Amino acid sequence: MTENTKDGDRSADESTGMVYLVGSGPGDPDLLTVKAKRLLETAEVVLHDKLPGPDIIGMIPESNREDVGKRAGGEWTPQEYTNRRLVELATAGKTVVRLKGGDPFVFGRGGEEMEHLAENGVPFEVVPGITSAIAGPGVAGIPVTHRDHVSSVSFVTGHEDPTKNESAIDWGALAATGGTLVVLMGVGKLPLYTDALLEAGMAPETPVALVERATWPDMRVATGTLESIVGVRDEAGIEPPAITVIGEVAATRDQVLEFLQNGEQQ
Ligand code: SAH
Repeated sequence: MTENTKDGDRSADESTGMVYLVGSGPGDPDLLTVKAKRLLETAEVVLHDKLPGPDIIGMIPESNREDVGKRAGGEWTPQEYTNRRLVELATAGKTVVRLKGGDPFVFGRGGEEMEHLAENGVPFEVVPGITSAIAGPGVAGIPVTHRDHVSSVSFVTGHEDPTKNESAIDWGALAATGGTLVVLMGVGKLPLYTDALLEAGMAPETPVALVERATWPDMRVATGTLESIVGVRDEAGIEPPAITVIGEVAATRDQVLEFLQNGEQQ
């Protein structure tokens, strides 16, 4: 099916609003797309969580913000609430931004929200963002691919418990690719998947880096090996949001560190 959605007939009636599913990039406001910045300044309502970071959230006029992230008490706002709220606002004729950290479709539940909008006849536009999965390693001096070392990269959620049977992630198969592994949401369960990778035969000396709050003013990077990284994490007190990079490319940082001007150097 070929359709020009830009100029296509929008069947929704004129009074229906519009939802923009916007990626904020990893947190530095200079890494917002021009379009994302314009939309943040002009949208009537912006639904966001904490991941875009304080600098970007601070750019949204306060009266237009709705936080749909973690609530006081640590509970997440239910996804159903966010879905319902997007439809409700659009149906009331509002121009709405649903702001997500990084890119909206990389572990961001953007896919679910888009489907819900379509099911409810709400017009929407997708505004991609720079994903932390590539930019996080990048600003730490780690290229996710490198002609000399590796020609594939896998993006994985570290949120699942690999010891549970229902885990959909086959760490053995990932180890066997020989490519770079970039793990998101993987700080808490780090020991579980480093163990799984070691068990699958990945070399204990494989370089690993943790990039915490990439591109934020207080970004930190910690490096080690598959065997040592859990201790490194504990000692440095690395917390979410952080990216785990596993593979030969993680060692590139050390070679360029002297000249790397991004963020805090450790
Ligand atoms: N859609 C986002 C990812 C959402 S999942 C993106 O494309 O970047 C949330 C995870 O993203 C976090 O647990 C962390 O692993 C990662 N993340 C997002 N922003 C980050 C940042 N600035 N620094 C390090 N990790 C980040």
